[in-house]
Amino acid sequence: MLKKILYILWIIILGFLVIFGLKNGNYKTFISSMENRSFDIRQEYISSAGLRPHNDNIVIVAIDDASYEYILEKYGEWPLDRAVYAKLTDYIEAQSPKSIAFDLMFVKSVKSSENSDNSLVDIFKKYDNVYTAMNLDNQDADLRKPAVLPEKLAVNLLNNSKKIDTKYYEFTNCRSIIDGILNSTKNIGMINVLRGDDGVLRQMPLFLNYNGKYYPQLALKVALNSLGLKDKKDFEITKNGELILGDKKIPVNKDGSVTLNWYGATETYEHISLYKLLKAIEGDNSYKFDFKDKIVYFGATVSSLSDIKTVPVDKVYPGVEVQVTYVNNLLDNNLIKKTTPAANILITLILVILTVAIVLALDSMPVIIGLTVTLYFAHIIMSYYMMIHHNLWVEIVSPIAFTILAFIITVIIKYLIKSRDFDKQYKLATTDGLTELYNHRYFQEQMQMHCANAKRYESVFSLIILDIDFFKKFNDNFGHQSGDAVLRQVAFVLKKNVRATDIVCRYGGEEMSIILPNAKKDEAISIAQKLCDIVASQKFKLSNNRESNVTISLGVSTYGQTDGTEPSKIIESADKRLYHAKETGRNRVN
Ligand code: GH3
Ligand code: MG
Ligand code: MG
Repeated sequence: MLKKILYILWIIILGFLVIFGLKNGNYKTFISSMENRSFDIRQEYISSAGLRPHNDNIVIVAIDDASYEYILEKYGEWPLDRAVYAKLTDYIEAQSPKSIAFDLMFVKSVKSSENSDNSLVDIFKKYDNVYTAMNLDNQDADLRKPAVLPEKLAVNLLNNSKKIDTKYYEFTNCRSIIDGILNSTKNIGMINVLRGDDGVLRQMPLFLNYNGKYYPQLALKVALNSLGLKDKKDFEITKNGELILGDKKIPVNKDGSVTLNWYGATETYEHISLYKLLKAIEGDNSYKFDFKDKIVYFGATVSSLSDIKTVPVDKVYPGVEVQVTYVNNLLDNNLIKKTTPAANILITLILVILTVAIVLALDSMPVIIGLTVTLYFAHIIMSYYMMIHHNLWVEIVSPIAFTILAFIITVIIKYLIKSRDFDKQYKLATTDGLTELYNHRYFQEQMQMHCANAKRYESVFSLIILDIDFFKKFNDNFGHQSGDAVLRQVAFVLKKNVRATDIVCRYGGEEMSIILPNAKKDEAISIAQKLCDIVASQKFKLSNNRESNVTISLGVSTYGQTDGTEPSKIIESADKRLYHAKETGRNRVN
């Protein structure tokens, strides 16, 4: 019964620990950084094993090392003249791509000839599937006056979810792009990214708040074009925290971001070196490209242009590939969805209960460890399965941390209870219920042991056997109850007046025995005499508030030549002396 109460109490305490743990700050930071690592490992495995195929309709025109070198050599400058981008766009548009996106900023501050700028602006007027990027920041207004962005770039966002805070990404300034483009197209998206505490990019914002208005990310705009929602102006986040895009529902994080799902390390998507395209527009016919219905993303992949991020699947990952991954996630609706806190608590509780059950139900420690480790693996495999097939991020670290804690505490409690049971059993087996002295069996064992020790170490010990005088009569006079009370009190008096190392036993009936380790004959006799005197001088309480005296007779023997070196001989010798004490008048030592 007590055991059951302890177990239930323990489960309740653990439940509180789980809830407390999930709410506590420091613990949460530590666990969440571990959890992020576990996410990265899952992503790395799933993408490198090819379990999540990417979208083939996206290609990257890469400003790679070769192209950078080619541009510097051929055109003598970086960035590339804007008229060249105009020509490239015309060249690709001839093949009817789905869209062309420049993950590059045609910023105002980089001066270019007016003619070049105009030819690029004309491109944005001519094709409504060409996109470009801007970047928001919080630069001081006295350094750079915040640009007023055209009304057509802003969108309306209705957030019905209480849990999601879309105000998080607020910006007051921006690096604006040339006015011609800004005023001639709606196809301008933001390319602000988010990094975790460890510098790894896992999340991307959907919208950014610039001076009170919402502006979508470039990737979202490009994806909308492919989804047939090009001019979508009104966005809604549902009560359940999902952004509605046509028939798709995009899971949104608490901070208004989305968590990207990765398809592989860098260069997972088809890369076309920019210099090959440049050669093609210069008249070299040896390169063949297929851009029909493709989403063509222009971006720098060379690290010296420094648009490089660390992502779960790669340390060096070009920004353009992050953008492309984001578009792919939106198109194929496989952005990562996290399990809810309630689901995490439930999973943790199930694991904890299973662990506690395994520890309590089984006896073999190797089997217990084997089963609990299997349980952890089952959970980890399940989390991989959920990520592969349902894009679901099931927490691993927190549930397993709690399960290990549950395991340790349950094992400790189990063994504490076991050892307490053992002590109880041992006591039951070695003591006498009435007097709480050691019982006859224990006495015999101790005699054996003391004889063996005395023999081995050439030491000595003595034995006193004592018997209450006229106890039969006593019982007849005062009743058995009073007899029992006297037995208990005599036992108590004996125990109290010998050393802690002396072993006081109930030999049988009203006979008791005391083993006195290291006591020579004369010492034992004086102890026996002391006990005899104390008992004789004591008033014993009987039932019905009566009192009476009793006396005892004691026989003493000592390990050695005279009294014997075997338990039976020593006992016999003490018995004989006791008999002699009785014969010679009782209440005495012999
Ligand atoms: P003496 O030893 O002085 O020769 O006389 P005695 O009357 O004590 O003789 P004996 O040792 O033969 O009698 C033992 C009596 O002790 C018998 C029994 O009634 C009593 N006795 C033994 N065990 C218990 C017990 O557990 N409780 C009670 N109340 N009496 C017991
Ligand atoms: Mg007796
Ligand atoms: Mg007696």
